[in-house]
Parts: sequence; C-alpha cells; structure tokens
Amino acid sequence: MPDGSVRAIRGRVLTFLRAPRGVGDTESYRYIDDGVVLARDGRTAAVGPAAELLPGLPAETAVDHYPGELIMPGFIDPHIHYPQTQVIASYGAQLLEWLEKYTFVEEQKFGDPAHAARIAEFFLDELARNGTTTAVAYCSAHPASAEALFGAAARRGVGMIAGTAIMNRNGPPGLLEPARDAITASRDLIRRWHGKGRQRYAVTPRFAITSTGEQLEAAGALLKEFPTVLMQTHLDENHDEIATVKRLFPEDASYTAVYERFGLLGPRSLMGHCIHLDETEIALMRDTKSVAVFCPTSNLFIGSGLFNYRKLAEAGVRIALATDVGGGTSYSMLRTAAEAYKVLQLQGQNLPALAAFDLMTRANAAALGLDGEIGTIAPGGFADLVVLDARATPAMAHRMEVTRDLEEELFVLMTMGDDRAVRQTYIAGQPAL
Ligand SMILES: [Zn+2]
Repeated sequence: MPDGSVRAIRGRVLTFLRAPRGVGDTESYRYIDDGVVLARDGRTAAVGPAAELLPGLPAETAVDHYPGELIMPGFIDPHIHYPQTQVIASYGAQLLEWLEKYTFVEEQKFGDPAHAARIAEFFLDELARNGTTTAVAYCSAHPASAEALFGAAARRGVGMIAGTAIMNRNGPPGLLEPARDAITASRDLIRRWHGKGRQRYAVTPRFAITSTGEQLEAAGALLKEFPTVLMQTHLDENHDEIATVKRLFPEDASYTAVYERFGLLGPRSLMGHCIHLDETEIALMRDTKSVAVFCPTSNLFIGSGLFNYRKLAEAGVRIALATDVGGGTSYSMLRTAAEAYKVLQLQGQNLPALAAFDLMTRANAAALGLDGEIGTIAPGGFADLVVLDARATPAMAHRMEVTRDLEEELFVLMTMGDDRAVRQTYIAGQPAL
C-alpha cells in the first residue's frame, strides 16, 4: 500500500539469515540489541541500530518503542483450515471418523457467504493475535468460502494463500463437486485472486481419498496451467487413511506415488503430515523438492503419529512447520514449536530454539517460495512483524530471571509462550492489534 506512511519500530531485532546448524550457531541470524525497523509504504525500508537510523529520520516519524522486547518477522503458518475454527477441540476420534463426525458437518455451513465472512474475520483476527502474518489456508469446497477469506485479507493488507477444497467422492453431497466443476471453480478463483495484491492461490485437493483419479489429474493440469500457483494436500497422516488410498488406487506403488502420477508433487507442493512415508516415498519427496509440512499439535491430538524430522531432513526433504487447526489444537506457532520439540524428544531427537524460530519465519517463507517477500526483516520485504515479550506471564518472567542468553530466551518463549507473549503484530508496517 503506497500511502507514504513511515513508521519506526524499535526494540531488539532478530531475523534469520540461513538454517541454524545446531545449538549456538550465532552466524545463522542477525541480532541488534537496540534496533529499528523502518517501514515505508508497507515494506521494510531499512533495518539497523537505533543509534544509526533514528537521527536521520524526520522529527515527525512515528516511533513505536518496545524496550527489552523482541521484534521478529511475523510467523508463517503453512497449513491451517479456516473452516475449522469451530472444529478445533472436537473429542475422541482419529482422522477418518474425525472428518465425518465433525469437519464435514462444519464445512457444509460455508456455502452461506455471511457465515464464511464472519468466520474469515475471526480467523484473521486470531492469526494476528498469535503473531501469524501469513498463512496457507484450506477453505471449504464452496467458492464463497475462498471469496470471503481473500476479500477480508485484501481489506486488511495481509498476504494469504488459500484454495477451495477439491473433493468429488467419499464426503457428504454438500461438499462434493463433479470433477470438472471443482476445477473450473478453482480456475475462476485463481484468475480473480492469484497475484491480486498480496493474495495467492493454492490448488487444494483435500487428499487422495476424496478425489477420483480424474479429478486429481485435472488438479495437476491446473498446476501446469498456472506455474506460480501453489498446491496443498494431505499425505501419509494415518494408517487407515493409507490403507484406504491403497484400496482406491491399487495400481500405484504408494500414497505419494498417487500424487506423483497426477503431477501434484513439486517445489510448489505442500504435503501436510508425511508421518508414515516409506523409503521410496521419501525419495519421491526429495527428488521432486516437495515440502513435508510438520503439524505436531494435530499429529498428537488426532493420534496420528510422530513426524520423523531428522530422517526427512537428512534425506534432503524440505520441511515446514504448521498448526493444522482444527486438527491442530492451537493457533500459536509458539505452542506449535513447543509440541514439535516434544515430538522430536519422543524419538531421541531435539529441536534447538534457533531452528524452531527459523522454521516459523525464514524457512516457512522459503517453503512457500516467498523468501525475500516475507519471513525475514530486510529492505524490500514486507514489514510483517511480531513483537514478543518473554516475560508475558508471571511464570515466564520468573523463569527469565535466570536466563543467560538469547537462545535460552527463545526456548522459554517457545516452551511457555502463546498469544499472551505477542505484544504487537504488524501487517505491512501497520499495527494489527
Ligand atoms: Zn490439514
């Protein structure tokens, strides 16, 4: 938004430069103890020490000062379902039953544009409260649901990536569209919204169970037709799901091979979960540069299993970290990182705080192909920021009394923090809270 607005945001600035190689990798980030992010027309114009930048600013420049608090790139959530804000915390079911009993029921309400509009506003409010400035969202099967979300996001200046869930079998009639109709609707939405301002489209076949081969093939063709559009789906989340895919696609060697056959793997493909990949599937993910999206709170809550982070990382598979609300149980990327840490602990692995914060920001942006635009604080990128307070609760402040360094502070933030630790969120240089 080139409105000429200039704002200086002052505090302890932290942004990642590359993936940390382990605990104590101080070369992986840039940290300025008393820093300033200068936002102009929605983008970062400059970042540097306050002592250098402030004297050069016109006297009337607005300065938002957060002494002692951390200013980081806004969090990025690469897998979340916006029609599931009233599905979150649904009791007692694993994946396929959970979909039928709770999710499909709730998603059918999104044919009503008024309902979709109300939930879209709530959803974007909740993301901002949690410091999340970009998300990749599944909509319901109704074009009206995507219209509502993109419309609300555009009005706020927030960059969203979203798509309507494509399904033509194994769901309630209210959510199923004939193969061609769903693709036509997605194409219309791409033309209306992809690249309009900050909005981007993701072709969204829900998963292989809910589409025929014909529909998956058409989705793959749509990806070819629009080479900058993203793709999101689910993969290898649950054993019953995998067995069902085997039954529906007996000719394919694996679940991942189904997506490969229809042209749905590639650098723009976000594959949610990837818990039970076998060796050939890991090789397919690596060779196609597809992204495995780790959704720890969802994997624990739905009882799906433990994401083998080390194995996938060592195999060279790209990895992102996401909430997956409403299978996930929190909108907070901090809470998500805390659960990711525990999932790794259960497998004798660790997630250093530096790696977790890099994932939530720079690495998630890179997974979306949006590095340079979001995920770091650097001139030219959008001034999407989160201001974090590691002393937000009495227990956190108490713990911080003995915290020795930045890395330990970040670990306190991810282990104990949530929306209460988010002091402010900036969207394109403007405060969102
Ligand atoms: Zn999901």
